[in-house]
Amino acid sequence: MPDSLVIARDVAGLRAAVKAWRMAGQSVALVPTMGALHRGHIHLMETAKARADKVIATIFVNPTQFGPNEDFAAYPRQEAKDVALLEPAGVNMLFAPTPPEMYPPGFATKVSVSGLTEVLCGPFRPGHFEGVATVVTKLLLQALPDVALFGEKDFQQLAVIKRFTADLNIPVAIEGVPTVREADGLAMSSRNAYLTPEERKIAPALYAAITKAAHSIAHGEGPMAATALAKDEVLKAGFRSVDYIDARHADTLASVNPGEARRGNFSGRVLAAAYLGRARLIDNIQI
Ligand code: AMP
Repeated sequence: MPDSLVIARDVAGLRAAVKAWRMAGQSVALVPTMGALHRGHIHLMETAKARADKVIATIFVNPTQFGPNEDFAAYPRQEAKDVALLEPAGVNMLFAPTPPEMYPPGFATKVSVSGLTEVLCGPFRPGHFEGVATVVTKLLLQALPDVALFGEKDFQQLAVIKRFTADLNIPVAIEGVPTVREADGLAMSSRNAYLTPEERKIAPALYAAITKAAHSIAHGEGPMAATALAKDEVLKAGFRSVDYIDARHADTLASVNPGEARRGNFSGRVLAAAYLGRARLIDNIQI
């Protein structure tokens, strides 16, 4: 029988629990989320359970990572449902702070990562990665876990988090977890709830297109041609627009050039962001 889930709303409650576990010699894993949990999130929790004695999930819809025209107000919030999923996954504590607990009056600090945030989603979502880096820095320092787990689904976010954690000497191991998908290949996402039934049928075309592009590049095709074809396919399938479909180095997110693709001796990723109706879907796959 798993321990029942304890909910902390403030940093003091979170730290008191972590301190008690530390005194008992137990290790701690942290899994930050924005809630509206699905099987992808639960897989992160289960992976965390295998890494540490105690698992803390966080739910915080972080206002600072949404742009003025983005979906902060509409973002699904369903804490009671989420709690019912966290308990059987063996999660010990839910940290669900209020916005003023995270950003009290006078709050004035931002964590900003250059380079990695200037490509892919960066130009399309100004301020987004600063918001993510700031809130994740706070969560890591509030809980000081041994390990924190993040999904590869948000591949650029994972790269940014690894970068600032190393740069700021935050003593937490960052682990990426492979993307959990629906049976038809669509990456699970809280934003899939925005899709109409008709759009939901079209949505797996994004995964299909980047999978095909990654396969072509792995077989020596030029990255520009392969990703251009993927864009066409996604638009033909019924997506409204494509922000990007790009082949990038997995660690630096620098573009893959044709020579490298031909030689094939690199660790690469095809990454995509595209609008289907009002949902902005992102996905990525290893080359
Ligand atoms: P979110 O609540 O969307 O901010 O996501 C919280 C964490 O869950 C992030 O580390 C995401 O990368 C991860 N995540 C989201 N969707 C998936 C998925 N389909 N598979 C694995 N991890 C995911």
